[in-house]
Amino acid sequence: MAIGESPCSKQFMTYVVPPAAQASVPVAGSDARFPVRRIFCVGRNYADHVREMGNDPKEEPPIFFTKPADAVVENGTEIAYAANTSNLHFEVELVLAIGAGGSDIAEANALAHVWGYAVGVDLTRRDRQAEAKKAGAPWDVAKAFDQSAPIGAITQSAPGADARIWLAVNGATKQEAKLNDMIWRVPEIIAHLSRSWALQPGDLIFTGTPAGVGPIVAGDAVTCGVDSLPELAFKIAPR
Ligand code: MN
Repeated sequence: MAIGESPCSKQFMTYVVPPAAQASVPVAGSDARFPVRRIFCVGRNYADHVREMGNDPKEEPPIFFTKPADAVVENGTEIAYAANTSNLHFEVELVLAIGAGGSDIAEANALAHVWGYAVGVDLTRRDRQAEAKKAGAPWDVAKAFDQSAPIGAITQSAPGADARIWLAVNGATKQEAKLNDMIWRVPEIIAHLSRSWALQPGDLIFTGTPAGVGPIVAGDAVTCGVDSLPELAFKIAPR
């Protein structure tokens, strides 16, 4: 069989280059995995973080950006320090795993579209983001790079509204907040997002980060969590 031929299909599909492997995330307590279709992210969703980035939370509607599905990195991985930055930042976030798709989803129905929950980190090239903001340019180079979406195992039980979200670097706490500090709550995020995209099973939504974002360097160990969800740990490889 040549590279790219599907062994599962009677009518063999042949691709001109090898097709990408399906990106996926482990499901806690199971051998099954959650297949990742797209990664959506919410910017500016905790007032203290909006202020630390120099914006006014009251004036900001939810903003969305994306990362490629294969930016996911699973728990326990050693990640290379990203190319093209000297200011790689962590942003701990609650992640929603969409199980049922839809457009124009009503807030009242939104949680029925969520299959599970996880903790993730929206790794960011802060220097490239500052340049993009100044130039009014897209954020892709700042946000959508390889290995930019570490994520813990997905679990089906939702964290409490007042669950603690936290991140530590080398054991020192850097971010700590409550989920109910979010400006846009989970149902509002899903409702807003589904007005611009038809959500699909397999989509992940990173819901924004609280205050305390900062740099990580080669050799650092990051641990983070949301109460009741499996913790996420990763290291930045030594240079
Ligand atoms: Mn973020």
